[in-house]
Amino acid sequence: MPREKVRYRIVCWDTETRLEPLKRGQQIHVVNYLSARVTCTECVDGEEDPECEICSNLDGDVERTKDWFVLFDYLIILLFF
Ligand SMILES: [Zn+2]
Repeated sequence: MPREKVRYRIVCWDTETRLEPLKRGQQIHVVNYLSARVTCTECVDGEEDPECEICSNLDGDVERTKDWFVLFDYLIILLFF
């Protein structure tokens, strides 16, 4: 009997950071840029479904790639592809 495939969303991301002083010689990584890719266990094994219910956001749209960057330490810019 074949095992039932578990369906779930997969989000992979990478960041670029800069080092900022924290205290007494310590530093902290602060995110400058983040790029994320969305897929799921259904789409990753075959052809990506442009209307996949697992990959879609709350508005029902499938946005596979998203990028964010921080400008002036307080303004976050979202890019959609
Ligand atoms: Zn999917």
